[in-house]
Amino acid sequence: MTAKIRVLVSGAGGRVGREVVKAVLGDQAMQLVGVVDPWAVGKDAAVLAGLPACGMTVQGDLATAIQESRPEVMVDFTNPAVVRENIRVALQAKVSPVVGTTGLTDNDLLEIDGWAKEDATSCLVAPNFAVGALLMIRFAQEAARFFPHVEIIELHHDQKLDAPSGTALKTAEAISRERKQVRQGHPDEKERFAGVRGGEFAGMRLHSIRLPGLIAHQEVIFGGVGQTLTIRHDSTSRESFMPGVLLAIQRIRSIREGLVYGLEKLIF
Ligand code: NAP
Repeated sequence: MTAKIRVLVSGAGGRVGREVVKAVLGDQAMQLVGVVDPWAVGKDAAVLAGLPACGMTVQGDLATAIQESRPEVMVDFTNPAVVRENIRVALQAKVSPVVGTTGLTDNDLLEIDGWAKEDATSCLVAPNFAVGALLMIRFAQEAARFFPHVEIIELHHDQKLDAPSGTALKTAEAISRERKQVRQGHPDEKERFAGVRGGEFAGMRLHSIRLPGLIAHQEVIFGGVGQTLTIRHDSTSRESFMPGVLLAIQRIRSIREGLVYGLEKLIF
């Protein structure tokens, strides 16, 4: 029998972290060995996730938890202010990070790739673990060859800290690799309120909507002569991210050292 993959969840008391705890506990090939979240210290991780107690209590300090639980993989769904340091701590301990936390900059990603290579450990950062969202990006990249006029509208719950979403940015990057550069909108267009036309990325407009009741949604709208094409993806529950997270936990240790950016690199 092959040994189970030892997994630590960082951000285990958060909205996504609780789903990750549930998914790891339910996977025969994995063993939950550590759970970290400063606000939930001492609580049973499974109870937080709405399951019967599993006897695994939440710890507050990642380095200590890693030392005590010897995980192979750390899953991180925390926040933009702490994720970079969490990744550094994990890599130094030769633990492979699987990171869903968004808000990392290009410079952060370069630095993380350097650390992972130095520590001869692999790391995955994925702005979106939902397979449908990855397909949306693929389809949008294909459509951009025919429709250079495009705007991206991403919609998330109002507790999200970063804007635009990592997925919107990744979509815009993918589109810009195919899209013919055009100036969109009227040349004399003026905003009566700052930001009303959204943010600009490589000539495209990105709009971020934040409302209670939403989870994670995105529309990519292409406009052409006499027609529009809308590609839309909705995560209606945080469970949508779990098949991708579990797949990443399974694959991360078998890939080369360094940073892999985007779950699509593992599945397409
Ligand atoms: P959340 O509910 O705020 O959960 C984050 C949790 O991490 C909170 O319980 C937070 O505690 C905790 N935390 C803060 N500092 C920590 C530290 N140093 N170590 C361990 N835990 C710490 O947020 P969420 O909705 O679950 O989202 C988490 C992140 O995942 C966000 O960046 C979000 O954009 C991203 N996300 C990514 C995907 C994807 O597919 N890649 C999908 C959904 C969300 P406090 O409340 O005390 O700060």
